[in-house]
Amino acid sequence: MVTPITELLLTEEPPEYGQVEQVSPLVRRIVAENPSRFTYHGTGTFIVGPGCGGEVAIIDPGPADNAHVSALLAAVEGQAVTHILVTHTHPDHSPATAAVKAATGATTYGFGPHPEAAIKAHEERVQQATEAGEDPEPDDGEGGGDTDFVPDEAIVDADVVAGEHFTFECLHTPGHISNHLCFAMAEEQTLFTGDHVMGWSTTVIPAPDGDLADYMDGLSRLLGRSETTYRPTHGPAITDPVPFVAALLSHRLHREEQIVAALGAGPMDIAALVGDIYSDIDEALHKAAGASVFAHLLALQRKGRATADPGPDPEAKWFLN
Ligand SMILES: [Zn+2]
Repeated sequence: MVTPITELLLTEEPPEYGQVEQVSPLVRRIVAENPSRFTYHGTGTFIVGPGCGGEVAIIDPGPADNAHVSALLAAVEGQAVTHILVTHTHPDHSPATAAVKAATGATTYGFGPHPEAAIKAHEERVQQATEAGEDPEPDDGEGGGDTDFVPDEAIVDADVVAGEHFTFECLHTPGHISNHLCFAMAEEQTLFTGDHVMGWSTTVIPAPDGDLADYMDGLSRLLGRSETTYRPTHGPAITDPVPFVAALLSHRLHREEQIVAALGAGPMDIAALVGDIYSDIDEALHKAAGASVFAHLLALQRKGRATADPGPDPEAKWFLN
């Protein structure tokens, strides 16, 4: 029996913004002051390498926030920042890369630029919100993307990025966004999970660039790995990751069953499905829930189990085949 994910979710006290926290022998963290309902207390930027002298890597420099960049640069004073690793191009992860690179001369590593499908989907959302007289840019930290970031070195799955004190195996983990990477650090049996696995919350899968089938494949793959600690960009570390990932997978399978059961009663659109399935959540999260339901429906469609009328868009009515 898998423990429900709601019983495994973790919390932590709000951090002292701009303060360096030593979270393990080779890893320090500084949290940016960009808390939101999608970023928890904010973006946790990791510095990997010994605490003084020598070479270090920075993972996810964070949002374009001068105070955060200054705190990061102060933390690595006297050290050589040789590598900047970016998990993905959401606005709370990559925009500070440019300033940190300019100050340190580090080489940047990432899967690739912000995906076209995500740019298009965001433009459509902004247009719909504007037409409906709503705020086109809600302060959710995941609204748009960082279209300026282009990695110096484009990473593919299984690439290894190594420096003086660190060795990272790069895992391509699409789902939350198609250019998402996780970084497995051999020295501490630690996986830097970005937004792919977070301790404080489940991950938003914004279809169509976000792909639930890919996401679940990525989770299944983690079950066979040996890392004992996960360090997400948001929230606390996960120190018993396998049961946690099993619970995330089971949570998604349960959602899929709920959607199939709801559609069993007749065709429904996404808003009706959200009302049916997520009756217990805050209305402010209904949009994110709708995006997640859309991701499930697209995955069901790919498996030949559901069809959309007139086509697979957010307004369509969906029915079982
Ligand atoms: Zn993200």
